Amino acid sequence: MEEPMAFSPLRGCDRCPADDSLKKYEQSVKLSGIKRDIEELCEAVPQLVSVFKIKDKIGEGTFSSVYLATAQLQEGREEKIALKHLIPTSHPVRIAAELQCLTVAGGQDNVMGVKYCFRKNDHVVIAMPYLEHESFLDILNSLSFQEVREYMFNLFVALKRIHQFGIVHRDVKPSNFLYNRRLKKYALVDFGLAQGTRDTKIELLKFVQSEAQQEDCSRNKCHGVIGHKGPLSRPAPKNVDQHITTKTSVKRSYANAQIHIKQGKDGKLIKQSKTVDIMSRKLATKKMAVSTKAVNSSMRDSARSCPAALTCDCYGTDRVCSVCLSRRQQVAPRAGTPGFRAPEVLTKCPDQTTAIDMWSAGVIFLSLLSGRYPFYKASDDLTALAQIMTIRGSRETIQAAKAFGKSILCSKEVPAQDLRTLCERLRGPDSANPKSAVDPPGNTGHHPAASESTDHKAPHAPASPAQHSEDSLYKRGSGGGRRHPRDRTANPEGWDSVPDDAYDLLDKLLDLNPASRITAEAALVHPFFKDVC
Ligand code: ADP
Ligand code: MG
Ligand code: ZN
Repeated sequence: MEEPMAFSPLRGCDRCPADDSLKKYEQSVKLSGIKRDIEELCEAVPQLVSVFKIKDKIGEGTFSSVYLATAQLQEGREEKIALKHLIPTSHPVRIAAELQCLTVAGGQDNVMGVKYCFRKNDHVVIAMPYLEHESFLDILNSLSFQEVREYMFNLFVALKRIHQFGIVHRDVKPSNFLYNRRLKKYALVDFGLAQGTRDTKIELLKFVQSEAQQEDCSRNKCHGVIGHKGPLSRPAPKNVDQHITTKTSVKRSYANAQIHIKQGKDGKLIKQSKTVDIMSRKLATKKMAVSTKAVNSSMRDSARSCPAALTCDCYGTDRVCSVCLSRRQQVAPRAGTPGFRAPEVLTKCPDQTTAIDMWSAGVIFLSLLSGRYPFYKASDDLTALAQIMTIRGSRETIQAAKAFGKSILCSKEVPAQDLRTLCERLRGPDSANPKSAVDPPGNTGHHPAASESTDHKAPHAPASPAQHSEDSLYKRGSGGGRRHPRDRTANPEGWDSVPDDAYDLLDKLLDLNPASRITAEAALVHPFFKDVC
């Protein structure tokens, strides 16, 4: 899913006046766009106007737009509210389930709550307390080690809470975990992808189909699913040398390694039936996108021409009727972010648990300890899996996958890396300012530790995603007589003495096997947090 755009006020810049006026122009275009969006929202859901003053648009993703509004309280005070306007094509059960997660599990333990919900026709707006928050990228390299510890602790508080309710969030990443550094406030948001465990306490999550079920359904052309999730709905990979086979078996080359997953039911190997080259895959992708779009818009048209009151009996009430429950699911390619997905998700293991959120928390922790964000940058699942292998080892990944019934073939063996060594190398010798240690001038320093483009441009295919940065680091280290990252002297930020406990916890979060991966409850009592209150 696309990251929401951040709308930040225009910053002063030290560029030439022409740049300045261009920036001002762009800013005014953006502002008029926001103004128009606010007007449209007020038209679509007019009851908002009597309650709120809508001030700004603060987020825009593929599935919602989020606005900052104020509400006038009786005592004359103004309260800041976040208004999340869901795209009108969202499935009613999906919306109701998101709302139920917020109302039942939210409002405490760092899980966002809900104040009100508004609906007019197919427009739904969720009103939540507003939490001003930082951009993860902006603060990543200025966080003290103690702040990182607190951040992770508070993330586990939120995850423990939702997991107790049998909610699997499925999209744990920094933009869904709001962090106010000054107030030390945290909030897990965005239950738009959430699913229920077998014994979930969120009734409506029982009706939300799992992605694996949807895949099965669309493959068997069963009714109930429209659109297509999975590899074909994402952009085709750029590497034209790759031979991609059909859905059941995909082969890709990455960093000189070829990975071949055979996704048979119950881990059984499936015979490779058909091999198609990248061009036909591209065509197929295009076709898929067109047909999905056509179906979506025709559904929307029929929804408009047919008043909701005639098609169901829950219109205007606070429940979801059986007609709506049995409506055909509209599935957009909404599958979280490959870089945060656990190995069992990447290999489409049908039995997914709350452990997938713990993996994503591990990837966030990896970013915090290495100073790299995003850590894994992959446009599709198999590239993401290959990147995981370069950190956790190919043999280890294959072995873990076997435990959950998946067979992975990889043409090249890559060893597992020591997490401390990896993070220290990436963070650089002067960890208070890691950007200057590893990045060439002009670079923002926020490139991922593992990315497709970096690897493709590298003069030699790196054995590890970190190698590109390591090279420049070590060149500086040997030529300029810089200290080795390990013997850094006192660092007031606490980065000079990262305890082994930190890497032990990271190792337990990035456990390739979901069955043994640490839970949120266990993470909270891990020795790493012994001094955090
Ligand atoms: P989406 O499904 O589009 O990703 P989210 O619920 O994640 O929607 O919201 C998108 C963005 O809006 C968040 O990343 C955050 O920046 C902002 N946002 C969401 N809820 C709040 C809130 N309660 N307070 C402040 N900002 C919020
Ligand atoms: Mg989000
Ligand atoms: Zn209904």
